[in-house]
Amino acid sequence: MDTKKEQKGWTNDELEASVDAYLAIQARYPNDEKFNKSAEHKLLQGGVLASRNTKSIDYRLQNISALFDELGLKPIIHYKPKVNIGSGIAARLTKILETKGLLTQSTELLATEGDVRSRHVKPAKAQNFVDVPEDDSPPQQGVTVTRYFVRNSKIKGWILENAKGICEACDQPGPFEMDGKPYLEVHHVKHLAQQGKDRKNNTVALCPNCHRRCHHSSDRVEFTDSLYKKVKRLKRQ
Ligand SMILES: [Zn+2]
Ligand SMILES: [Zn+2]
Repeated sequence: MDTKKEQKGWTNDELEASVDAYLAIQARYPNDEKFNKSAEHKLLQGGVLASRNTKSIDYRLQNISALFDELGLKPIIHYKPKVNIGSGIAARLTKILETKGLLTQSTELLATEGDVRSRHVKPAKAQNFVDVPEDDSPPQQGVTVTRYFVRNSKIKGWILENAKGICEACDQPGPFEMDGKPYLEVHHVKHLAQQGKDRKNNTVALCPNCHRRCHHSSDRVEFTDSLYKKVKRLKRQ
């Protein structure tokens, strides 16, 4: 249940605007750079969220962080996961993420009932198992977390391995070393937030400069086009 009165009665439009804002912030600051929260929240208040105060918006974005955390999506670290999302809100946010292609399917459980935190326990109870599994034990039936779309760390590993420390855009080595290896970042050419897939054919290893260029530069569209030409494994999605 929602714990704060002000959180009651959020419309789907309001929730979707919050999710959109969250994804937009994440796309602009992919490496958790600091940003001006109140400016972002003011933008939202200029639109659908006109009747919500900054605190309330902040709270909702923290809810989204909690849900991202739960679903294995990378949350924005500047929004500390507030875990006491109401089950109704969690289900509605999950649906919204699903329509945006960030999840493969929603689980029946999240869509219908339950505190997000206790989802592993609920199916067991429903089946009257004697032993209720611990929260970190594998789910007992078809309702599983693995059905969610999750950034695949294997892909990330493969992409970095394959690049051998050289930026796939500018062919320069990573600008410094981290853990003894040249530092590169993994970029989804069609952004995850735009329903891009977490696949080898949508993912490249870039130096931080080229990565920024993909997201922020005036020629980002042309630059991205050049990536599709240069890196043969990439396919437009
Ligand atoms: Zn580069
Ligand atoms: Zn990127």
